[in-house]
Amino acid sequence: MNVSGTHFNYYHVCKRKLWLFASGIFMEHTSDLVYEGKLIHEESYPQRAERYEELEIGGCKIDYYDPRNKIIHEIKKSDKIEFAHEWQVKYYIFVLECNEIHGVTGILEYPTLRHKNKVILTDDDRIKIQKIIIEIETIILSNSCPSKINSKICRNCSYYEFCYISESETIN
Ligand code: SF4
Repeated sequence: MNVSGTHFNYYHVCKRKLWLFASGIFMEHTSDLVYEGKLIHEESYPQRAERYEELEIGGCKIDYYDPRNKIIHEIKKSDKIEFAHEWQVKYYIFVLECNEIHGVTGILEYPTLRHKNKVILTDDDRIKIQKIIIEIETIILSNSCPSKINSKICRNCSYYEFCYISESETIN
């Protein structure tokens, strides 16, 4: 099984979201990670797409890779779940390393917030990522859907209606 950057992101946001996504249950905006990034990138940096490569490697699809400077550019709309975005980029760097591409760093960019954050992969991260991969595979292969997390971030999740509205539940 290939663990993707999206799996890695969702693992840090919500285990239930990870399970639903991996089980092939897609809602209207399930592809929000890709959609948001691409749309914002095109609007914010119309000239840049030509200089960066789209890279598919180890089950990951990296939309904007600068091969000359070995930098992954990951564009997001909101930094509310920045920790999940960071781990997504760290995982990309890890996958590149596993494929003998070393010395890569990442930049998380939030053009609408005028905010950037450099991402590097540490030795601790490498150890943690190997453990997380096992946890992600365990969740994905499980027959039972993890519980709802009743968090504020649920409101912006593509599965919000699936998780709550059908049961007439709301989050305070
Ligand atoms: S709505 Fe909340 S509980 Fe449901 S998948 Fe999304 S983040 Fe998880």
